[in-house]
Order: sequence, then C-alpha cells, then structure tokens
Amino acid sequence: SKRSGRNTLYFFNASMRNEADLYIELTSAIKAGLQKDEFEVYYQPIYDLRQGAYTRCEALMRWRRGGKDMVSPADFIPVAEQSGLIIELGAWLADEVFNCYQIMQAAGLPMRFSINRSAQEFSSLRHTQHFMNLQEKRDIPTHDITLEITESLLMSDNRTKSDNFQLLKEHGFLFSIDDFGTGYSAINYLRSYPAETLKIDRSFIWELGKSEQADVLVRVIIQLAQALGIAVVAEGVETPQQLELLRDMGCDYIQGFYLAKPMPQSEFKDFIRDAVAA
Ligand code: C2E
Ligand code: CA
Ligand code: CA
Ligand code: CA
Repeated sequence: SKRSGRNTLYFFNASMRNEADLYIELTSAIKAGLQKDEFEVYYQPIYDLRQGAYTRCEALMRWRRGGKDMVSPADFIPVAEQSGLIIELGAWLADEVFNCYQIMQAAGLPMRFSINRSAQEFSSLRHTQHFMNLQEKRDIPTHDITLEITESLLMSDNRTKSDNFQLLKEHGFLFSIDDFGTGYSAINYLRSYPAETLKIDRSFIWELGKSEQADVLVRVIIQLAQALGIAVVAEGVETPQQLELLRDMGCDYIQGFYLAKPMPQSEFKDFIRDAVAA
C-alpha cells in the first residue's frame, strides 16, 4: 500500500542518513585521535611449529577512542581506508613499530615483524617512499619486515599498485598474503607477485577437525604453498586440537589466542625476553 511504501522509504532514508553521519563522525574522531595520540600498537607472537619457538610477530593497530573504550580495527580501518586517513595511520604505525624494533634491538631481543598494509597505501609511490624512508632512517634490515597484503591487491590489474609492490620487493621487504582463501579462487597471481608466506584465514582454522572439507582445503593449501616454496601461517588457532592437526599437515607457523593474544609493547617485551630465555 501507499502507506507501507512511505514507511519503507522513511526507514530507508533514516538508516542511510545514520550511516553517513556515523561515517563523518568516525572520520573526524580518527583525525582527532591521531592528534591526541590515542592509537596504540599491539603485538601478537607467531609461533614456528618446527622450531617450537616464537620467531616473529604481527603488529596490530588499536584505538583507545576518547582515552577510554577500545575500538576494534575491524570497525575503524575500513573507514580510515575509505577516507584516506589510512595513509596517515599507516605511516604512524610504521614509525611506532620501527621504534619498538630499535628498543628491542638495544635490549638484545630479536624481533621479526609483520605490518598490515592496505591497498590504498599502494596507490602512490610517495607513500611507499615515505615508508622506506622511515625504515632507512631507523636502519632496520628489510628482511626482518614482512608486509601483509590481501589477495585483492594482487588481483587488481593496476599498474601503480604493481609498481609499488615491485619497489618494495626490490628493496628487500618480505611479503605475506593475508586472509588467504577468502578473496579469489584464482591463484595465478602467485607467479607475478611472489610472496614469502601466506596466511590461511581463520574461518578455515575454526572448521578444522569439524568439517572434512575444511581439513582437506587446509591440507591442500599447505601442500600447494610448499610446492611453490611459500611458508604457511595458520591464523586464529584457539585449541590444542587445531595446533596438532596443523602440525600433522606440515604447517610452518601458527598464530592465535591459544598461544598468545595481541599485547601492548611493554608486555610483548617481557614475553620475548621469556621466550628467548626459555
Ligand atoms: P588480520 O590482519 O587478519 O589480523 C588478525 C586478526 O585476528 C587480529 O584482529 C587478531 O587480533 C585476530 N586474532 C588473532 N588470533 C586470534 C584467535 O585465535 N581467535 C580470534 N577470534 N581472533 C584472533 P584485530 O587486531 O582485531 O584486527 C582486525 C583487522 O584489522 C586485521 O585483520 C587487519 O585486517 C586490520 N588491521 C589491524 N591493524 C592494522 C593496521 O595497522 N593496518 C591495516 N591496514 N590494517 C590493520
Ligand atoms: Ca594481518
Ligand atoms: Ca588475516
Ligand atoms: Ca584482514
């Protein structure tokens, strides 16, 4: 009827407006947060299954909005990407992580780390140059730095993006394909964009031991990667059963709450100190 049609329209408009408002609000809050130093970096250890040791970590962004509630990156990274603020956030994070590396180095604690880089950060050679300047200024060996990127970036047939990738690759940075298996089924990009590692998305790991299909998929991904000389990281490992299955399948690295949650720098330093002493 006319009435319900009008109602529908009304609700549609209201929710659209709310979304736009929310976007604008969040964008200016991120800007303010950068100025007020509300962002933090957490570090999650990555465990080498063969060595039986923590050999690397992933840097993850955190936002203590207004100094109080912790906002999940899943909520603010997409807005930061859309608004372009990810460029500033990404540069801030890189400098912060490089600084952490130097502190660890000075304390005799080794640290190889991954940084997540969004597609937008591959949209201009200027951003890449800035990133490399930060790394050179701190004198950090590129082979200790892995850049995590998603399949969609590699699939996009974009000259600028591939130029940025090549520049970083030639400079010596390592690459990891994040959320592997969630994006595209085509994997021929592995030939033109050789990566050192790939990370099996945690949606597959959750199903391990529960779904025969997931078991087969994970096993095949590991075999494929090994045939191509690519190391595999399983993300989101939460149980000892998952760990054992992954070990049997020959997985190289695991990351997940079962072993360690992401933690602030001070705690991470203690963690690494204990791990090195063990
Ligand atoms: P991601 O790159 O896939 O990062 C892994 C996510 O899985 C992290 O969520 C981590 O805390 C979570 N995780 C690790 N182990 C487990 C587990 O055992 N169980 C469960 N349920 N979750 C686990 P987080 O920190 O909330 O980050 C979410 C996403 O935000 C990241 O997903 C990444 O795409 C993005 N992100 C985070 N930091 C940055 C950043 O500095 N730059 C960019 N561009 N993106 C970032
Ligand atoms: Ca990641
Ligand atoms: Ca991931
Ligand atoms: Ca992700």
